[in-house]
Formats: sequence, C-alpha cells, structure tokens
Amino acid sequence: MYDAYMIEYVHQVNARAWGMRISVRVDGEVVVTTPRFVTKRMIDSFVATHTDWISRHVARARARTVMRIPRKDVATLKKHARELAESRCAHFARQYGLTYKKISIRAQKSRWGSCSTAGNLSFNYKIALLPPHLADYIVVHEICHLVHMNHSKKFWDLVAQTMPDHKKYRTELRRTHIVRARS
Ligand SMILES: [Zn+2]
Repeated sequence: MYDAYMIEYVHQVNARAWGMRISVRVDGEVVVTTPRFVTKRMIDSFVATHTDWISRHVARARARTVMRIPRKDVATLKKHARELAESRCAHFARQYGLTYKKISIRAQKSRWGSCSTAGNLSFNYKIALLPPHLADYIVVHEICHLVHMNHSKKFWDLVAQTMPDHKKYRTELRRTHIVRARS
C-alpha cells in the first residue's frame, strides 16, 4: 500500500503496459498499473491528478455489497438456486397465469437471469445468496419477459402487479456484487 495525497493504492507492474492506468476494484481498492521503471514519485503525481475520478469510483464501490463465494460452495449453491427458482417460478407463473418450459441454472459473471423466446428461463446460481425479495424480483422479471420480450412500460406495469417496489429492488440489486473468491 502506498499513499499519494491521502489516496491509498496498490501498485501493480505490468511489463507490457504502455502507460499508467488506475482502476478501482469491486471492493473499493485502488490499483495503479504501470510499466516497469516508473518511480513512486511519478505514480504519486499521476494519482494526484486523478483524485476526483478515484474518489467518485471508490465512493460508488463502498456503497456496494460484495460477497465472495468460496469455490467449494458453488455446487451446493447451484442446487439451492435450482430449488429456489423452481418453487418461485411455479408460484409467480401461477399468479400471472403463465407457463414456461424449462428452467436452467447458469454460472454467469454479471447476468442474473434470462428468458428465451421459446419460453425457457435461466437463472444465475448466485440468486441462492440474495435476500428473498431480490431473488423474487429476478424471478418476476423473467416471468414477465414471457409476455413482453422488452423493457417497455407495459413490461414494467406487469412487473409492478406483483412487485410495486421493483424500482427500489433494482437499485439494491445493482449494488449487490457476488463474485467467486480468488482461491
Ligand atoms: Zn429484462
């Protein structure tokens, strides 16, 4: 950890990097990547000229919830996600009077769910770690895509029939990041 005018950062050397680059990790850690032979003084002044950008991104990262999944838990979570998706899809499809074909559970990096034109639903296994109202929101969202394959006003009205607070849930979900642990 170094400190440039109050901003702490981790320095990473990448022999193939052409210039200096700043990034903010999902957990709010600031990383400066540079080519070899760049002095601390050069990095500090580079960071100092980007303090606004860094502060903005760090603040955004800190407003997030980050969960890390240990590798050994993935199989169990997939099983839980399937049970959850099957029971909640059945519940909401009944409420909407809709039917779907197949449910699949996937390991995706950033997608929570999807719905195909053939009527198949798929969900990220990470839904198993969400609070129930957010997992339900994802289920309702995909169920409503069985009717509207878009995000039109009609689509959101349909979502709102069972989830009047869906806007709040979307914000909450955007701030929730579940990632695989590095080890
Ligand atoms: Zn959608």
